Amino acid sequence: MQYNSTRSRAFPMPAHQAVIRGLCPDGGLFVMDDPHVTIDLAALKGASYQKIAKTVIGAFFPDYDDAELEHCVASAYDQKFDSEEIVPLKSFQDGSIMELWHGPTSAFKDLALTILPHLLTAAYRKDGRNDTVAILTATSGDTGKAALSGFADVEHTHITVFYPVNGVSDIQKRQMNTSRGNNVNVVAVEGNFDDCQRMVKAACSDPQVLSACQGVTISSANSINIGRLVPQVVYYFSTYLKLVESDRIKEGEPVTFVVPTGNFGDIFAGYLAKAAGLPVARLIVASNDNNVLTDFIRTGTYNRCRPFHETISPSMDILVSSNLERLLYFASGENCALVRDLMKQLNETGSYTVSGELLEEIQKDFCAYWADQDQCREAIRSLYEAEGILIDPHTAVGLSALRQYRADGNTEYAVVLSTASPFKFARDVLSCISEDVPEDAFAAMKQLNRLTGLSIPKGLAELESLPVRFETVISKEDGIPYLADEMKELSK
Ligand SMILES: *Cc1c(COP(=O)(O)O)cnc(C)c1O
Repeated sequence: MQYNSTRSRAFPMPAHQAVIRGLCPDGGLFVMDDPHVTIDLAALKGASYQKIAKTVIGAFFPDYDDAELEHCVASAYDQKFDSEEIVPLKSFQDGSIMELWHGPTSAFKDLALTILPHLLTAAYRKDGRNDTVAILTATSGDTGKAALSGFADVEHTHITVFYPVNGVSDIQKRQMNTSRGNNVNVVAVEGNFDDCQRMVKAACSDPQVLSACQGVTISSANSINIGRLVPQVVYYFSTYLKLVESDRIKEGEPVTFVVPTGNFGDIFAGYLAKAAGLPVARLIVASNDNNVLTDFIRTGTYNRCRPFHETISPSMDILVSSNLERLLYFASGENCALVRDLMKQLNETGSYTVSGELLEEIQKDFCAYWADQDQCREAIRSLYEAEGILIDPHTAVGLSALRQYRADGNTEYAVVLSTASPFKFARDVLSCISEDVPEDAFAAMKQLNRLTGLSIPKGLAELESLPVRFETVISKEDGIPYLADEMKELSK
């Protein structure tokens, strides 16, 4: 199995090298030459999450040998997670909720970012390299902390996270600024998320930065890296197996997955699971007020020229959805020229429209709904009232989408992916079920705990007393010289 770009055939390489590089040199994303790998579901009956992970990741990354996969999986999915199941499942009246937030930073990004550092160091060992990988990451909150946590003190790596100084929640800021590890750095940028992302992308090809890199390779921990995407296929399999084992579905029965979506990474992993033979009925894109993907799946026109909304589900406040490029590639029959052309149009005009034929192909697998903030609050309140299950605002977008899908007459078994702990957004969640909401985020967490009896995740509870290690704030113009200095320092 080789990996190559969505935009050309010029860069064939094995999986482990694609993991090291992150992004293709032509600006495209790495894709496998055949996603239709064979995974024997029957053989995985009763298997642990770790065993399923080893099988699924191994199928997509065949150049990693058995011992390497064993080590990566065992190092990632251990007591860092506060559930032995790693990804537990909760049933409610309308289906199940897949809880993806039991990792160290309480968001689903942990499922990929606890293993990516190990996949990367194994790749390094394979190629006998001993230079340093500098991981540059732009974040609107969750990716930053999960990456800092995953890469802390991992040999051969250094990680720098850029976040918008006023664009993340108090809890998210505190999570990042108190990060441990001797190889981590956190920088606030006077600008928005797009400015941070632009800075990181520019650094990858800036002569000043590159000439400062002696024995240092720049890479990324954003979901453009295939090493983040493939580990996310695992929980679609583990959840399906659980549903069969608990007799909620029959073996082979197709299940629909509802996915709160921003960068299209989590849901694209569901598409890969289906390609690998998992019985998936539909994948439902759930958007917040930034509903650019809902419009695309329904009409075939992607148009990012629209107002940007800051919502209570900030990790989905995004208008350029990187991983959609991978879907366009596969759904068009691996048509690199078409992908290149559509991405060029998006870059130059801010929009593109796909053919009726391609849209039909996409709609075979996907449909889409969106929820505004009132619908989202209503979903949190009503689920808690009816079933005693507490969800965060991102998951609530998914639940609202499922309700709309049901209202359209669909009855097959469905699973909502729950992407963050409700305690991570304590004030907003508390306001849905109580009149009394303290200003302070930690006070809100404690109140939520008292009211619901649910425990505050350890990683969030300890934040209040951890020392702040990072306080650097830079202007967006200073990003490139700042990084050049940092790379010089790393090169010593
Ligand atoms: C990142 C994130 C999402 C969106 O996931 P994508 O892979 O970008 O679609 C949804 N919810 C939460 C809590 C997140 O952190």
